[in-house]
Amino acid sequence: MKNCFFKTATIIIATIIVASCSSNGDKPVTAETSEAENHKIDTLIAIQDSPQQMPSYLFAGQYDELLNEILPEGTVESSINAFLLERGDKMVLFDAGLGESQNGHLREKLDSIGISTDDITDICITHFHGDHIGGLLTANGEAVFKNAKLHFSDLELETWTVGVFKDRDETVKNMLTAYANRYETFHAGDTIIDGIVTIAAPGHTPGHTLFDIGDAIIVGDLLHAVDLQIEHPEFSALYDFNPLEARETRISMLEKIRDTHKPMAGMHFTAPFIIKL
Ligand SMILES: [Zn+2]
Repeated sequence: MKNCFFKTATIIIATIIVASCSSNGDKPVTAETSEAENHKIDTLIAIQDSPQQMPSYLFAGQYDELLNEILPEGTVESSINAFLLERGDKMVLFDAGLGESQNGHLREKLDSIGISTDDITDICITHFHGDHIGGLLTANGEAVFKNAKLHFSDLELETWTVGVFKDRDETVKNMLTAYANRYETFHAGDTIIDGIVTIAAPGHTPGHTLFDIGDAIIVGDLLHAVDLQIEHPEFSALYDFNPLEARETRISMLEKIRDTHKPMAGMHFTAPFIIKL
């Protein structure tokens, strides 16, 4: 895989790699900075909520021979990440990880870089799976972020609150209760919060959304195992709501992202979490 660190002369991106949740005392590391010229200064920070190992059977049932050849060990490295964007007076979080009750470390890692959950003004949600919205809630189901407004797609909200999935997911129900007066829906394609463009990426879930922040693209769960799926985007994970649609979306989005020359930040990317195709 030929990934490289994101470098640009137009913005400052500081990639804070909070790489380990183990007790070995690893400290956050600032990996990259580059100077701004005639451009607003943004900072995008990657925060690893939890390192993960993904069993290869999550990709089984499709190209099995190739899968065994690529992953003879039967596992692939993965991760659960959130991203933090400082833009003007806004402090925007993208997804919120698993939550402390599921051993997520987002809050303590925000603390470690001097940011309180109360400082977050907006949270963009890629989709409603528990490893993306669990961190919005305490173990008692209360809001972790006291001052933040949530932003998610109208289609994602409808998927989980109308029809067959209505009331079936406790975390979604608790999130909508805890943030009852503090969420806003967008329609994919809308521009939200000072120039963030929302992009429909259906398949993983119906309302799964990517966010183009201008100088990088937050790609949510477009890829679950970056080491496997950049080379082989035809593999869909069992987590995908509609694997065939997810595959089509992944293949076409990766092509479009490659054409933009923008780096992408993925919720399941391993370090350095922000990569350029
Ligand atoms: Zn996920």
